[in-house]
Amino acid sequence: MNVEEFREFGKASVDYIADYIENIRKKRVLPSVEPGYLKNEIPETAPPSGEQWRNVLSDVDRVILPGLTHWHSPHFHAYFPTANSFPGVVGELFLSGLGCVSTDWQSNPACVELEVRMMDWLAKMLGLPEHFLNESEGPGGGVIQNAASESTLVGVLSAKQKTVEMVLKEHPHLTDVDVKAKLVTYSSKESNSSVEKASLLASVPMRLLPTDAECRLRGNVLQEAIDKDKTKGLIPCCVVASLGTTGTCGFDDLEEIGRICRKENIWLHVDAAYAGAALVCPEYRYLLKGIEYVDSFNFNPHKWFLTNSDCSAMWFKNTKDAEAAFKVKATIPEEPLFEPQIENWQIPTTRRFRALKLWFVMRLYGVEGIQRHIRQQVSLAKYLEQLVRADEKFELLVSRLGVVGFRIKGRDYLTQMLLNKITERKNLYLMPYYFQNKLMVRFVVCSRLTEKEDIDFAWNEIKCITNEMQTNIINNRKLINVKKEKINANILTKVATSTFSPDLNEKLKVGLFL
Ligand SMILES: *Cc1c(COP(=O)(O)O)cnc(C)c1O
Repeated sequence: MNVEEFREFGKASVDYIADYIENIRKKRVLPSVEPGYLKNEIPETAPPSGEQWRNVLSDVDRVILPGLTHWHSPHFHAYFPTANSFPGVVGELFLSGLGCVSTDWQSNPACVELEVRMMDWLAKMLGLPEHFLNESEGPGGGVIQNAASESTLVGVLSAKQKTVEMVLKEHPHLTDVDVKAKLVTYSSKESNSSVEKASLLASVPMRLLPTDAECRLRGNVLQEAIDKDKTKGLIPCCVVASLGTTGTCGFDDLEEIGRICRKENIWLHVDAAYAGAALVCPEYRYLLKGIEYVDSFNFNPHKWFLTNSDCSAMWFKNTKDAEAAFKVKATIPEEPLFEPQIENWQIPTTRRFRALKLWFVMRLYGVEGIQRHIRQQVSLAKYLEQLVRADEKFELLVSRLGVVGFRIKGRDYLTQMLLNKITERKNLYLMPYYFQNKLMVRFVVCSRLTEKEDIDFAWNEIKCITNEMQTNIINNRKLINVKKEKINANILTKVATSTFSPDLNEKLKVGLFL
């Protein structure tokens, strides 16, 4: 492809994407394809010679689009938001167009220096403590990682290294193998599965502790677990607290946990992957109570902060701890040309120019634009909360930030049926979640395109299905009663009960279940 063709292909692609986003509301959020649908549409081998880009673009339309789940549809309410904004898209285009990565400063000064500055912009926007800033006097700083999962792993590995060094200093007769075998970490049962995975990858067992009724990990539960482990001769080394759990957007009690971590000299990592973005609004900063105890903090601009994937922001109170965990001689020159050396606080060797995306997003939206986005989405969730509360068929279980959890009153199978029907009809995409032993519909305001009319659309769909289900149930009951009468009549006339048809028995079971 020559540069002229690239211009044409690129411009046609931007137009295609703009049309896609502009018309996304009209599409059903879930596709109607069967597993394996793509097999017959795409040849078994790559083409021997290069094709025309127009053919490729038309195949995107013909083959890919029908099999897409539309993650940015305003009717997508599953998982969490996945950021997508025009500044973010152009940022991605630029960073792949410029195509440079970086290791140390010399390898790409703009990439390193912009990242250092963007992480400070972000920290200030969220109201994080001064000591996390790259520009601060102390050893704190921030860096962009691939994912929250990776940030948690970096946090746990840093904690592990720090604890081993600390214990060896106090007990020089021990070896690092002795110490590593005794380490243990903590988080809550409600934390994201990536948290447990991080401890698995770091080869440190993790205690997943119970939460209170509000989905919070509390200090007394943590203290009890730590005491128990210490009496067994184990060494607590890290706590991963969640600000905004994935299931119900629960917030661990950072202050209670933080005090214990300080007293026990345990590393405290915070996973705020989704909810961290809300801190851009001062009214949510109360959620940071206890932040002074935190050693490492992470949130994903690629979730709720309008910055296309991937972009996960991580700060350290003391970056020397991460450096100690990841230091390899070859990566640390004698005299660094530029500080901080952010390349020493990450797992990959190189980094993409993700700071460029953040720069585009923060400049084109401004602080106010991002605040408006968060407030708008929270207000839409509140609107849904009101609709749920106002309908006596439903029970509200959770409403925090953009997450609303509710169920049909009564037994779980009703809510299960509702969820099944919603997925069958493909107009909405929602997730189930078990909360306090009850099945709930987990509804998240995800797409930045979501408006009040989309919440009305969703609620209408949910109510229609529920009404239909209840009408069916009533009709089924009537049917069962009629059949029961018939059966009774049969019993009376034929006496023998053996005339029950197995078919009818089956129907009765199903009917009675309903
Ligand atoms: C989404 C999520 C994660 C995982 O984020 P990745 O960036 O995909 O690794 C971790 N923790 C919480 C609380 C999340 O919501």
